[in-house]
This record gives sequence, C-alpha cells and structure tokens, in this order.
Amino acid sequence: MGMPFVDLKTQFARLEPEIRAAMDRVLAHGAYVMGPELGQLEEQLAGYCGAAEAIGCASGTDALLIPLMALGVGPGDAVFTTPFTFIATAEVVALTGATPVFVDIDPASFNMDPALLRKAVLDVLAEGRLKPRGIIPVDLFGLPADYDAINAVAGEFGLFVLEDAAQSFGGEYKGRRCGALARVAATSFFPAKPLGAYGDGGAIFTSDMELAQVMRSIINHGMGEDRYEHVRIGLNGRLDSLQAAILLVKLAAFDGELAARRRVAQRYSEGLSGLVETPPTPQGCQSAWAQYSVLSPQRERVRAALAEAGVPTAIYYPKPLHLQPAFKGLGHGPGDFPASERASAQIFSLPMHPYLEDARVDEICAVIAQAL
Ligand SMILES: *Cc1c(COP(=O)(O)O)cnc(C)c1O
Repeated sequence: MGMPFVDLKTQFARLEPEIRAAMDRVLAHGAYVMGPELGQLEEQLAGYCGAAEAIGCASGTDALLIPLMALGVGPGDAVFTTPFTFIATAEVVALTGATPVFVDIDPASFNMDPALLRKAVLDVLAEGRLKPRGIIPVDLFGLPADYDAINAVAGEFGLFVLEDAAQSFGGEYKGRRCGALARVAATSFFPAKPLGAYGDGGAIFTSDMELAQVMRSIINHGMGEDRYEHVRIGLNGRLDSLQAAILLVKLAAFDGELAARRRVAQRYSEGLSGLVETPPTPQGCQSAWAQYSVLSPQRERVRAALAEAGVPTAIYYPKPLHLQPAFKGLGHGPGDFPASERASAQIFSLPMHPYLEDARVDEICAVIAQAL
C-alpha cells in the first residue's frame, strides 16, 4: 500500500495558501519574537479549551517545566506521574531537583490509576523522606485521565495537578476540554501532535491568574515589570511568531480534522474488534486520537505483516520510564509497575491522521486479520 504514519504533506497541500499568507505577514512585519500572532493565538487557544489564560511556549517540555518552576517544586518534593508516557513528563520533575514517584496505569485506558495514586501518596507520607507536592496525570494517546478522581486525591492531600495534555488537545472529559481539567495544563505543538506547528512549540493553560503571571515572567528570563529587571530565575521559553501564525491557520481547520480522526478511530475499532485489544472510550470522554494504539500478544507477527504490506507502525512506548537508564537512580526493577510493563510489551500504534481514507483503514484491518 505505502502510506505515511502521520500525513502532514496532505494537510499542507490543503492549507498551503493560508499558511504561506500567514508566514508572509510575519516576514513583512518582522516581529519574529513576541509578535501580534502570539497574543491572537493565546486568546483563541484559551477560548477553545475554556481556560482563562493560554501561554504560548517553546515546546511541550517547557510547558511542563515552567508550571513546576512557578509552583516552586524542588529537591525533597515528590511529584506523582505514570511510568507509561514520553520521558518529558518525568524528566521535568527531575530537572527541578524533585523526585518523580511513579504510579501504575489502568490497563484499559493506559492512564494513571487513581486508586494506586492515593496509595502512592500514603506510602510517601508513611516513609517520610519526601514531601508530596503534585500530580502530573497524562492524557495518553489523547484520552483524558480520570480527573474527578485525581483532583479529589489532590484536594485530600493539598497537591497541585498539572495536566500533561501534550497529546490531548481537542479531547473532552465530562463536557470540558483537555487543557482545562486541572489547576494548570501543558500541551505540545510538536509537528506530529494533533495540533502541530512546523517546528517545536507548546502552550500552558490555567485559570489561576497569579500563577499565570509568574509563568509569563519565567518564560521570559524572570522579567519583572521593567525590561531588564529580573525578579526570578527563568528561561527563554517563548513561542516564535512564525509558529503562532502557522498554528492560527491550523487551529481554524482543527475541528474538521478532529471529526475525521474520530471517524478513523471508529472504523478501526469496528474492523479490529475480536482481533486485538482496541482502545476504549470511557463514558463522558472523547479522545483527541493523537494515536490509535492496540494491544496484541502477537505484536511482532502483526507488525511484520503490516510492514510487508507497506503500512508503518510505531511502538509508544517500548520501555516504561521506571526501567529507563536515565531513572536508574530511583532504584526500580522489572515487576514494579506490571500494567505499564504489559502495555509496553504488547502495544503498537497504527497510522492515524485526518486524511486517512476509509478504504485504507479497511485494508489495514484486513492485513491484521490475515496475520492472526
Ligand atoms: C510530546 C510529549 C511531550 C513533550 O512535548 P515536546 O513538544 O516534544 O517537548 C510531553 N509529554 C507527552 C505525553 C508527550 O507526548
């Protein structure tokens, strides 16, 4: 067949005149950093998610790091997250000097298990070595985590919640959009994410205005009211005007793309039912379908058949974070987080993008049926 895993070329072909015009406007006004497109994008992003503020930044990783810096997370603090995610989620915790404390996933949703979260907080309190500070749930593959249960645990123990919505822009939880499901949220505009730029980018969402002000300062080297007065340690975490201009065009097309992703996901789930474990959509949730990921004990056989047929697949994620060399200092070993380990051993993702035709989806399902 021969097809891309994510089809950015077709998207560009559809949006090309608007994207070129938007980029030309930036080239003409020349405000490459902090140009007018940034404010426009922030306003539209906040409106889309239902957060009071959106703050553009240089990457999804910065969008996770900056809230932690603003909340004063540091050495001696425990921040709870899942080991079944991209490394950035836990990396930012380590960068602040705090300790990531892993909580296993629910095996069906791949998201943090709230009952295990509560137990992990109690364990850290009982041990007395670290101070529980916050929680970073991940909306993996675009599906929101269980925020009612997670925010309840946060409330019980006085912890902040930072939503890792890097994959879930456009997702919904009980009538609210991802990005507005916790005190503060981070998303990514890496090109392959549901809303992707043409380079790196990200955004932070919050309705906590005091926190927003501190984060805006951190993003710009801890700048205070006056230029070149630095009231705190920050970094250069700004989003470029060119990326903001491109994102404004892509945001206008986003709802149509999201509907197309939902159609693709539905068709996969119908075609693959009984063949592999397909991703569930819990009551009241909508995934942004960043990935369509399935489980099979015969993963390698299926992937080989798909590769033979020209269908690319990917494995997110082949090694959970507690088994990564970078986190060996945490002292974990195989068996510590069994649901994450099982997912890593059996999961694979199929091509997923808004321009995937029904006939291609049917062909992919047929190759899988044949292989099994
Ligand atoms: C992509 C991703 C990030 C990091 O985003 P970047 O823009 O690549 O820095 C963080 N968390 C998760 C879950 C991601 O998928």
